[in-house]
Amino acid sequence: MKIYNTLSKQKEEFIPLEPGKVRMYVCGPTVYNLIHIGNARPMIVFDTVRRYMEHKGYEVNFVSNFTDVDDKIIKKAVEEGVDASVISERYIEECRKDMKAMNVKTATTHPRATEEICGMLEMIQTLMEKGYAYRAADGTVYFRTRKFKEYGKLSHKNLDDLQGGNRSLLVSGEEQKEDALDFVLWKPKKEGEPYWESPWCSGRPGWHIECSVMSKKYLGEEIDIHAGGEDLVFPHHENEIAQSEAANGRTFARYWMHNAFLNIDNRKMSKSAGNFFTVRDISEKYDLQILRFFMLSAHYRSPLNFSGELMEAAKSGYERIVTGVSNLNFLLKNAPSATAGGEEDALAAELDGFSAKFDAAMDDDFNTADAISVIFELVKFANTHAGEGSSAAFLEALKKKIVELSDICGLLVEKEEELLDGEIETLIGERQAARKAKDFARADEIRDELLHKGIVLEDTREGVKWKRA
Ligand code: AMP
Ligand code: ZN
Repeated sequence: MKIYNTLSKQKEEFIPLEPGKVRMYVCGPTVYNLIHIGNARPMIVFDTVRRYMEHKGYEVNFVSNFTDVDDKIIKKAVEEGVDASVISERYIEECRKDMKAMNVKTATTHPRATEEICGMLEMIQTLMEKGYAYRAADGTVYFRTRKFKEYGKLSHKNLDDLQGGNRSLLVSGEEQKEDALDFVLWKPKKEGEPYWESPWCSGRPGWHIECSVMSKKYLGEEIDIHAGGEDLVFPHHENEIAQSEAANGRTFARYWMHNAFLNIDNRKMSKSAGNFFTVRDISEKYDLQILRFFMLSAHYRSPLNFSGELMEAAKSGYERIVTGVSNLNFLLKNAPSATAGGEEDALAAELDGFSAKFDAAMDDDFNTADAISVIFELVKFANTHAGEGSSAAFLEALKKKIVELSDICGLLVEKEEELLDGEIETLIGERQAARKAKDFARADEIRDELLHKGIVLEDTREGVKWKRA
């Protein structure tokens, strides 16, 4: 499996630190608003990386944080006259809903910055002791960037070019730092803001320190993969490397993966530019599986332009797969159980070839665009060779392969079949009969089965009522 590593600017063979295990950290969103579909790109992309690794048999420890203390969160809290935690709590919940609807798996751990302050204080203390950090007169603690000799190795920037070329490094309020390249580890509190006590001043952490600390706590000092959008390469990830490697004295992450931007009219989609659609906006018009399909139809390192036309194309692409599966389901209803013999066996034997081709695309730095083409070829193969005389075993094999490959991409292509009203009534009748016969286990089983299919039962005095959840 080859992964393009931003650090070496090359595709490298993936060799995990520990055989069979992957330790992976993905920088998560700052929670002050509904996420937009630009934020959704890394979520979908790295969830697919995770799923593919799991398919290959790796046990993946996947950590992704929520940044829940930040200027933008505080600003919103002030506007609404509530505590910052009310804002972050609300948008973490909303973000989880969006992730679920996009079929993004829950991380092994989703740490939050505000719950990891202790670890941050410890790491900052270590950096102070090692001379990599200092306290300015106003209580701010800075990282002494020039002392970390490898600074710039991820973004391939040279310290002197940075100094000369990047005037924005001279931030107002940070006049007391020794060098324009130094960045904040801890800053003093301001009136009305959340703060924590520390040996340097009451205050709150800078942004970068949280990821260094959470990655270490949940994955260890050295990890396999660290990932995020390409805007994070500099300064965020460069600063994370400096903090972690200076504090721990060893490599922080071996492979650095970055997704390219989701653009709109060839400009990065962002909250600040105002050119964004939230995931929620899209969900009003499309099943979010289609958004997922759209994201994966391009390679993650290629910029992707969002447009209504491309979403329509994604819709028909996704529906091609879904229709392929429902055709098979339809044929399965009356399929003969006896195999049709030689010809079917030969065709079934071709199915592994699709997996091999799919894996080859994914092994090449997760080329989901090519992997999806393989799914299309497979659907075409199924449409060509499945018919009324096909055996159940052959149809099942075709369906299983389409579902398996789609599932690695996180695409749900088989919808739960909706129960008809009559079928629901019959099951409710059966449940009543089971209760009468004091077979409560069976009665509960029926209730659960219905619930699983989205039907909620309510026992009332007038009898059992039901509704679709
Ligand atoms: P933020 O909430 O801005 O810290 O972003 C959360 C994640 O979304 C980071 O990995 C960003 O790099 C990523 N991201 C933000 N905007 C875009 C975009 N337009 N395209 C792709 N990734 C983005
Ligand atoms: Zn981060």
